[in-house]
Amino acid sequence: MTIQKIMVVGAGQMGAGIAQVCAMSGIEVVLHDIKEEIVEKGMLAIDKQLQRQVEKGKLTKELKEETLSRLSSSTELQKASTVDLVIEAVIEKMDVKTSLFQELDKIAPEHAILASNTSSLPITEIAAATSRPEKVIGMHFMNPVPVMKLVEVIRGLATSDEVYEEIKALTKKINKVPVEVNDFPGFVSNRILMPMINEAIYTVYEGVAEPEAIDEVMKLGMNHPMGPLTLADFIGLDTCLFIMETLHEGFGDDKYRPCPLLRKYVKAGWLGKKSGRGFYRYE
Ligand code: NAD
Repeated sequence: MTIQKIMVVGAGQMGAGIAQVCAMSGIEVVLHDIKEEIVEKGMLAIDKQLQRQVEKGKLTKELKEETLSRLSSSTELQKASTVDLVIEAVIEKMDVKTSLFQELDKIAPEHAILASNTSSLPITEIAAATSRPEKVIGMHFMNPVPVMKLVEVIRGLATSDEVYEEIKALTKKINKVPVEVNDFPGFVSNRILMPMINEAIYTVYEGVAEPEAIDEVMKLGMNHPMGPLTLADFIGLDTCLFIMETLHEGFGDDKYRPCPLLRKYVKAGWLGKKSGRGFYRYE
């Protein structure tokens, strides 16, 4: 099967980015969300992102227009009935994802693959909500999607080799690098990244050093482009807490316990850059 048409469900920061990179690679894309104004906001974000690339000389005006012409918007899930692949990028809640996959399973053609961009939820459990678990797979894009090369391709327990190969080929077609990963809590990326961020938060909590000092050590000493606390603020502290809880619960191992300071910040509404305050303050 050649994947010619995709529906991206969820037009937030990840969904808009995924729709953009797919459309830029010549694929027809339907961008779907629950409300018209949210889809329009996603479309506008894509337009702006492409325009910036035109201004930097990285994209021609013609290619920008061609990309936009391959994109259409939707608030009716029924439009999934004509696609070869759905990439889900809605909020990180298992009940929302499973009920969406149940609906998509009824609407999408029999041959269609259903992929999730979840950053931590089990693909096997999402797949079990459908009657086609062999056609359900994880495509974990990194943020910001147009810039970051990696896509973790997560095989659920029942994902078929054929579906894995199709998604691997598609990932390459959209100029990303697929890396094969099995379905365990946090996959590879967040299983390694989040405990490091959590440990950096413990280092603040125990008064070992100030946030600026911790970030400086990791940038200058370990050559990380961004310190772990700055990165946590960018990801969102609520998301970091959610992923730590997923690791803690999934492995039943206390080495993944979220730092109490992380819980405290989230309870205070200090969610990082998006709320104006996290480990740092943002205007
Ligand atoms: P977001 O909040 O920016 O966007 C989520 C979108 O989903 C919203 O527009 C919302 O209206 C829509 N939505 C919610 N329920 C829906 C439904 N039933 N049907 C259709 N649309 C619905 O979130 P995001 O940061 O783009 O994250 C989306 C997914 O990507 C999550 O699973 C997240 O874990 C994952 N992810 C996020 C990042 C990141 O850095 N933000 C990185 C990798 C993966």
